[in-house]
Amino acid sequence: MIDLFGGHPDTDPLDDAGDVQLLDTTLRDGEQAPGVSLTPDEKASIARQADRAGIAVIEAGSACTGPGERETIRQVTGLDLSTRVTSFCRGLERDIDLAIDCGVDGINLVVPASDRHVTEKVGTSREQNRRSTVELVEYATDHGLWVEVIGEDGSRAELPYLESLMRAALDAGADRVCYADTVGHATPDRTLACVQTLAALGPTSTHTHDDLGLAVTNALVSVAAGADLVHGTVNGIGERAGNVALEEVAIALSHGYGVETMELEQVYDLAQLVANRTGMALPPNKAVVGENAFTHESGIHTDGTLKDDAMYEPYPPELVGRQRRLALGKHAGHAGVAAALAEHGVEVTDDQLDSVVERVKRIGDRGKRVTDADLLTIAEEVRGDDRDRHVELLDLTAVSGVHPPTASIRLSVGGTERENAATGSGPVDAAMNAAVEALSHEADAALESYHVDAITGGTDAIVTVEVEMSRDDESVTVTESDSDITAASVTAMVDAMDRLVDEQSVMADD
Ligand SMILES: [Zn+2]
Repeated sequence: MIDLFGGHPDTDPLDDAGDVQLLDTTLRDGEQAPGVSLTPDEKASIARQADRAGIAVIEAGSACTGPGERETIRQVTGLDLSTRVTSFCRGLERDIDLAIDCGVDGINLVVPASDRHVTEKVGTSREQNRRSTVELVEYATDHGLWVEVIGEDGSRAELPYLESLMRAALDAGADRVCYADTVGHATPDRTLACVQTLAALGPTSTHTHDDLGLAVTNALVSVAAGADLVHGTVNGIGERAGNVALEEVAIALSHGYGVETMELEQVYDLAQLVANRTGMALPPNKAVVGENAFTHESGIHTDGTLKDDAMYEPYPPELVGRQRRLALGKHAGHAGVAAALAEHGVEVTDDQLDSVVERVKRIGDRGKRVTDADLLTIAEEVRGDDRDRHVELLDLTAVSGVHPPTASIRLSVGGTERENAATGSGPVDAAMNAAVEALSHEADAALESYHVDAITGGTDAIVTVEVEMSRDDESVTVTESDSDITAASVTAMVDAMDRLVDEQSVMADD
């Protein structure tokens, strides 16, 4: 238990910090998010990554959903992970049988707890519900399953009834019970009262939702009240406003209370994997895993960060498998611009730096993020450098009505023309593949990130593509806007390659 409220002044609040573990329900509650459907392979890859991250329990799905879902759960149980794999089960023997069929280690048995669920949804009585819960727990433990009983809508249940229901479940042999704030209704004080009551009975889990924006707070209050297993999903995906985000709980417990629940440096890989597989993109300002979580743009912050990494960060990005980024825009200052130029090996005088900063701010004022390519172009102009392009796009054709989509590209590389064609999953992918292959003799550059800005308006709207490419330990970002997304993508990529490929490697290879 962590002492969230100070405790006795003579005791260290972390003295009685026991083991707190995480249950990842990304594959069950997370998949219930509108529009999300994961294939068996996708679920398996997420489970493998969650296992690598040291998550204690993975709820792999809901065996009663159908044969496809059962096949998926079997695929996860077949991975032979070190984590405990469970299935969600409704209060039916049939559901438990189906879970057993999938080879799970345990079940998350959900039974109604609030009157709304007991009488209106299930159509039973409190007493009958308690009796059938006992029978189901006995049935499941008789079959050797680890059993967690979840009191659905527990936060809206009458607390004495929730207590008696959960006591009956534990008496019948359940391994643990779970406080469920199914609709994200509870305030922290309500959570405290419920979890304290249940934790006095036996091992207690907590399952919080974010409808009031209180999911993390309520998870921490639950732990302080005695819960030792926190349910959540990666990136907080889930129905409505979602579940509590596991990575937020993990970092808050570690940073705030020294309680470790998972391998934190795996957090970012896991977040990206789930975002890619579910199609639920990470908001830039998302805690821990958002694009901007460790990006500094304002001059004051950049200057402070260059003097001391911790100046404007609660914890170093490396802790969660990330890197700090200094971005340039309208808030840029001299220190940040000088540092960015130095990173690309560009030297400027003080006067030249003044002009570069002024022009960077001017681009920023137009609402644009200033990329590496923008900065280098400005610096060249200010310094009066003449720069020859090494790589130039001459022609591009992409065809997407055929299978597979195909693209052909014509480039000038160090003065020589080069043509290449490739296929891909779509016209952009095909064109990007063609460009990479055409340039592979010169540089084994890698595409680090590819991002398309939200498209608004008609089908002829301008889209902005941002690519980040790296080669050895150098990387550059370039943005390109066009009403043709394929042209914007390839142009941005070729510009990035042009910046990365130095003259020597072009000459040497020709
Ligand atoms: Zn839920």
